[in-house]
Amino acid sequence: MRIKNLFMPTVKEAPSDAQIVSNILMIRAALMRKISSGLFAYLPLGLRSINKISNITREEMEAISASECLMPLLVPKELLDYADRWVAFKKELFRVKDRHDIDYGLAPTHEEDFTEIVKGAVQSYRDLPLSVYHISTKFRDEIRPRFGVIRSREFTMKDAYSFHMDEACLDKTYKDMSVAYSRAFKRMGLDTVSVKADSGAIGGDNSEEFMVLSNVGEEEIIFCEKCSYRSNVEKAVIKPEPKAETYTSEPFVELHTPDITSVDQLVQTYGFKEINLIKTLLYTMDTGETVAIAIRGDVAVNEKKLSNYLNGCDVELADEATVRAVSGVRVGFAGPINLKKKVRIIADYSIKTIHAAGMGINKDNTHITSVNIERDFTVDEWADLRRAKEGDLCPECSAKMYSKRGLEVGHIFKLGEKYSKAFDFTVLDENNKPVTPTMGCYGIGINRALATVIEQNYDDKGIIFPITVAPYEVIIVPVEDESTDSFKQAELIYNDLRACGVDTLIDDRDARLGVKLNDADLIGIPIRIVVGKRSLENGFVEVKLRRETEMREVSPSDVKDYILNLKKQLFDEINNCL
Ligand code: ATP
Ligand code: MG
Repeated sequence: MRIKNLFMPTVKEAPSDAQIVSNILMIRAALMRKISSGLFAYLPLGLRSINKISNITREEMEAISASECLMPLLVPKELLDYADRWVAFKKELFRVKDRHDIDYGLAPTHEEDFTEIVKGAVQSYRDLPLSVYHISTKFRDEIRPRFGVIRSREFTMKDAYSFHMDEACLDKTYKDMSVAYSRAFKRMGLDTVSVKADSGAIGGDNSEEFMVLSNVGEEEIIFCEKCSYRSNVEKAVIKPEPKAETYTSEPFVELHTPDITSVDQLVQTYGFKEINLIKTLLYTMDTGETVAIAIRGDVAVNEKKLSNYLNGCDVELADEATVRAVSGVRVGFAGPINLKKKVRIIADYSIKTIHAAGMGINKDNTHITSVNIERDFTVDEWADLRRAKEGDLCPECSAKMYSKRGLEVGHIFKLGEKYSKAFDFTVLDENNKPVTPTMGCYGIGINRALATVIEQNYDDKGIIFPITVAPYEVIIVPVEDESTDSFKQAELIYNDLRACGVDTLIDDRDARLGVKLNDADLIGIPIRIVVGKRSLENGFVEVKLRRETEMREVSPSDVKDYILNLKKQLFDEINNCL
């Protein structure tokens, strides 16, 4: 492509509303533009990279015999009602009506469509297993769209669905998908780790996320120092610490604590230790019910675990009015004794370690100390509700764990019979008996993968694309203008490379050399060739890799073979790691 004709509006300044490097560079390097909150338009360079990422994904799906389809983006409410997702998606689902007043959702994911069409086409065990997928747009009205295309409201996903006669068969496909995902991400130049993930209310050990470690990651991953245990903190199980050997025999006493409303203040003003305090947090469930969670002062409630514990109900910290109605006091003094209104008291195992606890007692400006957890209040239920953190003990080998941040680029999930049952989908087995197929689903965020590649590959000049996903592989920069012999030489190289199937740009703009070189660095094309009169007189053109600083001198007659070799080398570097 000739840059003169290419729609490539690069910009010098970082957009004021972009917080992370990938977002800034995707705008500056003319990969995309923002249309509105969480909505982005792809420009030619961005689209080429997206297509390369899609194609890598497609090849890896093909390699494990998944068949490509394409579903519509409008999903009739009727389909979303089968598994109650019209309701379950809540505000994340964009809803529209047609002229006949019929409701549709803009597809947030496609389990329903695929289950519907597979059900219509598959009757016998001979037709299974079957894996189908598509690469298409998803719509999600995210609460906080941010970080550019990492969390947007319209994005491209590769989503695959598999159908099986039994669990063992699903296990095999799940493993194949896991391998295909690792390969696909490696081919994009991404190092991923797979971690145990939350599977929502379905529970079980049946979901894995593919994470790229990154400081801008929205997820926190916990790793065991010794064994291979690693998990999203949302999911991480914590080995309960030993229960206190004894609980205090002293009676509890009241302490006047004016204006102390947080654990930190109690620690600073009264010399408490966080690990000897009990926090009582009131949560409102989406059913309207309030529950009280008693948890140790040094740990936090994992709201995902709490929600799973409460059968998938959404939970949020109770508002001030509810706190007052339930505890009788303002926020900061609630406790599990003498609540004004009876609610379920659910205690996290962490408080079992406290010999003599300090906590609120539903009385203004008052806390109590020397609380004996077995004697002084009644716990209705015990549960593991705490959020894992660095230093917690590994549930598998008891060694200490540490944490890192990660960006989730893919997610694989054993769905079980949730959709096949809801759709009343059965298949006849060898004995002509109807069996409900078990299913898996598998997603890759295509745009998020692109942003993640950039997040992992840049310097102060711009993007440094891995060759596999670069919009173009080679950029030729002529030093002199169109009327010169050196420019003609650059054109010859351009035509030669294109004829050999190399994705090549030529910067034929009537611009200063500095501008062209800056743009070449900014857009991150892996191989650059500078063709100028002076170097030609000395018998060479300058070849440079974007990721290196030194220039290589290559004779014009060798340049085609040299570049073909270099390109192969760059691809091999990535593919040899598979
Ligand atoms: P998250 O926890 O980040 O919201 P999710 O669990 O909702 O992700 P899935 O439904 O499993 O995501 O979707 C599969 C993949 O789609 C994710 O791994 C991610 O790469 C991508 N993805 C999900 N939501 C978005 C979004 N809002 N913008 C861009 N990509 C997304
Ligand atoms: Mg989500």
